[in-house]
Amino acid sequence: MSRKSPVAAACPCGSGLAYTLCCQPFHGMSAFPPTAEALMRSRYSAFALKHAEYLRFSWHPDTCPESLDLDDEPLKWLGLTIVSTDKGLAGDLEGRVEFVARYKAGGRAGRLAEKSRFVRFDGRWVYLDGEVNA
Ligand SMILES: [Zn+2]
Repeated sequence: MSRKSPVAAACPCGSGLAYTLCCQPFHGMSAFPPTAEALMRSRYSAFALKHAEYLRFSWHPDTCPESLDLDDEPLKWLGLTIVSTDKGLAGDLEGRVEFVARYKAGGRAGRLAEKSRFVRFDGRWVYLDGEVNA
């Protein structure tokens, strides 16, 4: 038996890190993701955890929906794969992240492939919009 403390819950974004060391500080809005990819991951985790407040916080005000109710959301998010990133680093003002997110809805598996655009707003990364690939 290991004498280490119990394994902390893995972060839903699939980073391999514990949630407390990965997306949770961002969800607490006490820290901001340093890159567009980190923001993308934190938003995926927020969808998985139904954290609507954080999703709205990390959404550009111009494109953020009036309301976001995830409580009746039928999707169960199963995993995230980052396909590619373009800019979105510390010195950039915009960035793109292409990803595939897997989900289950009504017993059926599905996948969402999207190219998302992120920009700086108020000095932090926010989600602007995305192009869904069929
Ligand atoms: Zn994470």
